[in-house]
Amino acid sequence: MFKAYAASSSESGFEVIEFDPGPLGADEVEVAVEYCGLCHSDLSMKRNEWNMTEYPFVGGHEVAGRIEQLGSDVQGLEVGQRVGIGWTSASCLRCDQCQSGYQNRCPTAEGTIVGRHGGFADRVRAQAAWTIPIPEGVDSVDCGPLFCGGLTVFNPFVENSILPTARVAVIGIGGLGHMALQFANAWGCDVTVFSTSPDKEEEARQMGAHQFLSTRDPQALESVVGKFDMVLDTVDASLDWDAYLATLRPGGKLHMVGAAEKVEATVFPMIMGQKSIGASPTGSITRAKEMLEFCARHQIKPMVENFAMSDINTAFQRLIDGKARYRIVLKADW
Ligand SMILES: [Zn+2]
Ligand SMILES: [Zn+2]
Repeated sequence: MFKAYAASSSESGFEVIEFDPGPLGADEVEVAVEYCGLCHSDLSMKRNEWNMTEYPFVGGHEVAGRIEQLGSDVQGLEVGQRVGIGWTSASCLRCDQCQSGYQNRCPTAEGTIVGRHGGFADRVRAQAAWTIPIPEGVDSVDCGPLFCGGLTVFNPFVENSILPTARVAVIGIGGLGHMALQFANAWGCDVTVFSTSPDKEEEARQMGAHQFLSTRDPQALESVVGKFDMVLDTVDASLDWDAYLATLRPGGKLHMVGAAEKVEATVFPMIMGQKSIGASPTGSITRAKEMLEFCARHQIKPMVENFAMSDINTAFQRLIDGKARYRIVLKADW
């Protein structure tokens, strides 16, 4: 039997449950959870904001742990090995998307916490292909958030072919933005951050921002018109999209990983400057491995607050209150 922290409804807190996971699939891996990050998507899923939650709901899709058991067909992984599991726990591995290296875009990909139980548990399972080895130089204690949030903000740099000579702006210094700043800086870019919180300036500079612009300052956006190759939006707020598009150089991209409800923008300046608006979900299996190696090479790590998994309800409240700086990681204490 697996033990997990489950919410029985969108309103209720998490309580311990036990469940029988059934036989381990031939292509599956069973992982003993050591640490699991708390992501805003766990909250959205608990509240059934995307109409795909099943109760009892066990969240947790930023797992760092060790392999406990291998399915009969699994090769290339070992019992005891350090691994992580992110948003996706399986994909078909046969469709066009999977075979062209975009397993994260597989139409039948399974979410770790969608229709199954995730990492707020003593053990969790995933398809072997989606069980990502943690390289040396990446610490299990705080690497969980890399598997969801980290991959999500790393991916746009590769997808948009961002060069070290590029000028990049990040909107928001939160769970996603604080990692995006580190990636952008290590990439070699000139890094600007837009934030509503002037009190975060010093931390933002430590994370790699070269320029801090307060979005409360009406002159801030005007001062950077035509500057950026990519503006990476990590917040879910509705913004003055035309003003942000104006900060792009010709050919520049406004890339969204924060889920604003709608984007309304004037098309003509986009045509004239060949600018585009895009978005992306997490990243592929290979991208996840590249990201971890990049993190090891550049000592990039999420800034986390640690809680015992048994304090999951307190930790969730901190997430709800928006107080976490900048990610929360639960340590399994069964
Ligand atoms: Zn997530
Ligand atoms: Zn597929």
